Amino acid sequence: MTCAGIGLHSGRKVTLSLRPAVPGSGIRFRRQDLGGLEVPADVNHIGAINYATGLMRDAVRVDTVEHLLAALVSLGIDNVTVELNSPEVPIMDGSASPFVYLIHEAGVKELDAPRRYLKVHRPISLTQGDKRIAIYPSDHFKVTYSIAFDHPLLRHQSRTIRLTADSFVDEIAPARTFTFLKEVEMLRRRGLARGGSLENAVVIGDTGVLNNALRFDDEFVRHKILDVVGDMALVGYPVIGHLVAHRGGHALHTSFAAQILEESEAWTLVDGRTVAGSDRAAAALPVPARAN
Ligand SMILES: [Zn+2]
Repeated sequence: MTCAGIGLHSGRKVTLSLRPAVPGSGIRFRRQDLGGLEVPADVNHIGAINYATGLMRDAVRVDTVEHLLAALVSLGIDNVTVELNSPEVPIMDGSASPFVYLIHEAGVKELDAPRRYLKVHRPISLTQGDKRIAIYPSDHFKVTYSIAFDHPLLRHQSRTIRLTADSFVDEIAPARTFTFLKEVEMLRRRGLARGGSLENAVVIGDTGVLNNALRFDDEFVRHKILDVVGDMALVGYPVIGHLVAHRGGHALHTSFAAQILEESEAWTLVDGRTVAGSDRAAAALPVPARAN
């Protein structure tokens, strides 16, 4: 499937295509404008984090991957090649819903290979100043997110959700990127948000949002859940655990994704056939070597 749009930060036009990939290939970005050079979506290739998550391999980069990654992992896509003809994933409407639509239109093929999940057995946590993120054992992938800003219209929001394909599509995917009006000029001075507009971001002014309406009363915290789900895709396996984050951002999320893989005594890889609806004990599998 193919779609076209502009990059939120670069403002550049871009065409994106999703192509089937064989088992074990994971999610890979391919720069068609650079002769097909590829960047895998994993913690070994985290690139620039500037109000968005970037990936990099050698000099090849792909920016603002998080909303697409959130849609892919939430809809059960483990293997896909994402082709781009520009460095930044299109922002579309600022949410993940356009990507959900694309994936639904394309259809999903179940491959003849077991899916492996990363099941957390012991808590893992990371604190950076007033930002915190942790994951705790749970039988499902759940996210609790809380945000706090010093703004009269957005002080504190918190939400817990058990992530399934359906709950993601209905409750999380439509939530859009947001920013504060007073930050827009700073972002532009730094060469960011060049493609930003009220068509693809919620902008919070002093007296209200500049857009016509919010999609949810708590659209902001829902978007933070969307972001962390996308950033957690860099772990490389669907995670089974309860992720709890407070005031995080892409730098914290992606550092934490790498930390989870490093703390390998805190989790095991389990076969998906033992996870789906069965009460059999999940079989522990050997941990594969880190891919490069
Ligand atoms: Zn986002």
